[in-house]
Amino acid sequence: MNAKKIGSIYPDFKNEVSRCPGGENIMRCFACGTCVLSCPVSEVTAEYSPRRIIHMILLGMKEEVLGSDAIWYCVKCYRCHVMCPQEVKYPEIIRVLRKMALEQGYVKPLFVNAINEIDRITQDMRCTMLEQIIVRRDSITENDMKEISKFSEKLDY
Ligand code: SF4
Ligand code: SF4
Repeated sequence: MNAKKIGSIYPDFKNEVSRCPGGENIMRCFACGTCVLSCPVSEVTAEYSPRRIIHMILLGMKEEVLGSDAIWYCVKCYRCHVMCPQEVKYPEIIRVLRKMALEQGYVKPLFVNAINEIDRITQDMRCTMLEQIIVRRDSITENDMKEISKFSEKLDY
C-alpha cells in the first residue's frame, strides 16, 4: 500500500482524530497487534495493518495516513474492535479517516462511491455463494472445494 503524499509531521493529528466521535480511544493503543491477527484483510493482504495505521496517526503522519490506500481496505467487520484489549474502536477510526480524506480533498466523491459499491457487490457475491453451498450442505464434495478455490484464483489477475 503506497502512501500518496509524504510531508510534515502534524503533532495534533491524533487529537484531531480523538476529538471525532468514534476516535476517542485512539491514544489507548499499546501496539499489541491483536487487531492485525484478527483481521481478515490482513490475512489475505500481508501489508495491511491496522496497528501500523494507528501508529502513524499517533506519530502525526497525517498526509501519509489520509493519502494512503490502506484506509480503504477495511471491510468494517469489527473483528478488531471486538478483540482489542484497549477498546480502540479501529473501524470507527477508519470512518473518521475516510471522512477527513474526502473533506480534505485526498479523494474524490466518486472514488468513495466506487469503494461503497465494491463493498456492496462483494457482500452480494458472498451471500449468493453461501446460498449455493448451504442448500448442498450434506453433499459437499472435494470437487466443490476445488471450484471454490478456482474462483479465488480467477480474482488473482
Ligand atoms: S488490538 Fe487495540 S491495542 Fe492492540 S494494536 Fe490493535 S488497536 Fe492497538
Ligand atoms: S474492521 Fe477492518 S481492520 Fe478491523 S478486522 Fe475488520 S477489516 Fe480488519
